[in-house]
Formats: sequence, C-alpha cells, structure tokens
Amino acid sequence: MIEKERMMPEINLQLTALLRRMPKMLEGREKVWSELRKRNAGFRGEQKLDYDLSFLNEKEYRIYHGLRLSSGNQFFQIDTLLLTKRFAILLEVKNWNGTIMFEPEFHQLIRIHNDKEEAFQDPISQAEHQSRQLKKWIQSNGFPQIPIEYAVVLSSPSTIIKSPNKQISTKVIHAHRLLNKISLIDETHKLVCIQDKEIKRLNRTLLKNHVPHEVDILNFFKINLDTLLTGVHCPHCATLPVIFHWGKWHCPACKGKSATAHYQAVEDYFLLIKPAISNEEFRNFTHITSVHTAYKLLSAMNLEVGGEKKNRTYKKKK
Ligand SMILES: [Zn+2]
Repeated sequence: MIEKERMMPEINLQLTALLRRMPKMLEGREKVWSELRKRNAGFRGEQKLDYDLSFLNEKEYRIYHGLRLSSGNQFFQIDTLLLTKRFAILLEVKNWNGTIMFEPEFHQLIRIHNDKEEAFQDPISQAEHQSRQLKKWIQSNGFPQIPIEYAVVLSSPSTIIKSPNKQISTKVIHAHRLLNKISLIDETHKLVCIQDKEIKRLNRTLLKNHVPHEVDILNFFKINLDTLLTGVHCPHCATLPVIFHWGKWHCPACKGKSATAHYQAVEDYFLLIKPAISNEEFRNFTHITSVHTAYKLLSAMNLEVGGEKKNRTYKKKK
C-alpha cells in the first residue's frame, strides 16, 4: 500500500509562484522558466510509474514517494522506496529524452538530445549512494538489516540507452520493465528479515523522520524581495492587481469578480517570502488599506493563528 503519497514538490510550487510575481522584464525569468519546465517534466515522469506500481501486492509492498531522511549532517532523498519484510528497493527515476550514454569508467552519463550534448552525474552511483545511506539509517535507528536493491528507472519509453557495459541493463530500465525487475528481485530474496511488529515500527519511523526540502527560492535565484510584484491576481484572467470593493475583488480587465482571489496571494507569500504573515504584511502585499478588512479576510482563511494583537501572525495549517 502507499504509505507516503507522491506530492507536487514544494519547489515546483515556488517556481510557479515566482513566475507569477516576477516582472516580465526582470533578468533571470528565463532561468526560472527552464527550471520549472525541467522539474515539472521530472514530476510527470515519476507519476507515470504509479500505474505500474499499482499492480504490486498491497499487503506485501509498502510504497513511499519522495522520502527525505537525515544521515546526520546531510540529507538523502529517495524518489520511490518499496519496502517488504524480505527486502527494500530504491527507485531513482529519470525523465530523460534522447540518447543516453553511460561511461562507467568515469561514472558519468552523457545525454544527446536535439543535437545537444549534456553531462549528468551517473544515476547508478547516485542510487548506490542512496542505498548505502538508507542501510546506515536503518542500522542507526536500531532495525534489523534488510537487503537493499535499487534500479534507475527511465520514465520516457523513447529514451535510447547506450553503454559499453552489459551490466548496466540490470540496473537501468525503462518504466515498462519495472514490474518485471521487481519480480526478479522478489524471486531472489525469500528470507524474511524483519517481523511484522518491527516493520510497522520502521514504517512509523520512516514517516516521522521525513524532512521536507525547504528552499529559499529568492536567495537561490538572487532575486531581491523588493522587485517582486505585489497585489492580488484575477483568478479568471490573471490580471494584476484586482481591486477590493464591497467584499469582493473586481478585475478592471475582464470585469470578473471573486471573493477569494487573495487566497492565491497569501499562498504566494508563504511560498516566496516566509511561512507566516501579519496583518500589516498582508495589507502591503494585497493592497488592502483597512486593518479591519485585512483582519476579516485573514481570519476567514482557516490559517493557524499565533501571537496576540499587534504581533498576531497567520500561517498555513500543518
Ligand atoms: Zn480578470
């Protein structure tokens, strides 16, 4: 069964919010676009696996998507982890189009796509590294050792794989071969390594220790906070800003109305600036002038309220 659902990564949401709030002429916009395109394609690639994984025996396989664990001073993230009482499989999912060539000697991978050559870190080394980290993590949390296998899964069926080393084909597979690969691994591990009670505890410990990846996106792209566009977008035509009047947002362009258009603005604020907003910050960001109106809008938003009176802030409920 799916123990941890696949979620749209926070950074994809941050990049989308950033594009909404970056002036059209601002330098670096193209870079944000290309990062978002790449990450959205990666996410869609991972989603494609869900169909195949849905054929696994629910009672036998526990599935975790996007688990991120600490190995002391560093973190490691696993695209998909399959856990059984006999073994675990770690899947490293790659969404690569074109032709990929493995250079095992240099632990490097060259991708040729649209006549362009690009080098990537060898995903096999990456998956090996993660399985070592996971092994250590399981040990240091006091669980019995279980064999950890891995596979690099190419989500695009048209990717051409080239390698001088035959071994690669046992580790790198197309998504449609995934179930086959899993059943081969299943065949070779018949010994139960971890009992029911222990695997339940391992499940709880994995979920409890997941640390979401937080990125200071403005800092990452070296964007000054002051250059961001403020105001509330029209939910119908994306015009910025719409005007608040008599309890509703009115769009000067499409004449559309909305009572909740500021929800998106608050979400943008949380994604781009900080996880909590005060009445004053809300007014500055949404161009609302009245403290009372701001209070009413924020209070109706089902946010977690902290602090008293002037120091009151609102943040997203966990
Ligand atoms: Zn509009």
